[in-house]
Amino acid sequence: MKTAAYRIGIMGGTFDPIHNGHLAMAEAVREAFGLSKVLFVPSGNPPHKRRTEIADKQHRYNMAILATNSNAMFEVSPVEIEREQLSYTVDTLKILKEKYRNYEIFLIMGADALCDIESWSRVDELFGLCRVVGATRPGIDIEEFKKEIDKTQKKYNTQILHVHVPSLDISSTDIRVRAKKGASIKYLIPEEVEKYIYKYELYR
Ligand code: ATP
Ligand code: MG
Repeated sequence: MKTAAYRIGIMGGTFDPIHNGHLAMAEAVREAFGLSKVLFVPSGNPPHKRRTEIADKQHRYNMAILATNSNAMFEVSPVEIEREQLSYTVDTLKILKEKYRNYEIFLIMGADALCDIESWSRVDELFGLCRVVGATRPGIDIEEFKKEIDKTQKKYNTQILHVHVPSLDISSTDIRVRAKKGASIKYLIPEEVEKYIYKYELYR
């Protein structure tokens, strides 16, 4: 295989809303693998999330833009929110591979997402399109996580990269719960995102 000139990280998520845990993880992986860009891809119609009350995709996209503005190496892609069908990561990767021909793709996932990967669509094909990076996430048992990585590597005859990320015990679920009851969400998300949530009265 021809070696690519650059490395790009792809970080998918519902980002409902995007928070400092996402940003810190992306930055840690970017640095660990010398990525020249990290692309945040807010999901359109995620097959995994059956929660009915997901914030409008345009809001989730806008918040991702606000959160990443101050980092020249972070970008947000509308590729999934522009599609009407269910968004499968493997299809998104194919589209992005076309767009970023000169790049080697690193798919960044938190430990919880990675442990779920076997339930994803066309996993074999996915491993052929990118390098998968699993990042630690608070609440995950490291030993269990390593076992899970090992199992997945054997099953798909692939190599999964593994990064330890500074632990930020933040989740979008917790932020939504806090916003709903009027509790503080300061310092869990970028200030611009906090203002946006109040301005549009999200999660009330
Ligand atoms: P929700 O609570 O709604 O599921 P979330 O905080 O898990 O939200 P997602 O949009 O589901 O955020 O996650 C996108 C990606 O970011 C996933 O790969 C997830 O594992 C990872 N991730 C989310 N929060 C953290 C965190 N605090 N540390 C490391 N990785 C995280
Ligand atoms: Mg999640």
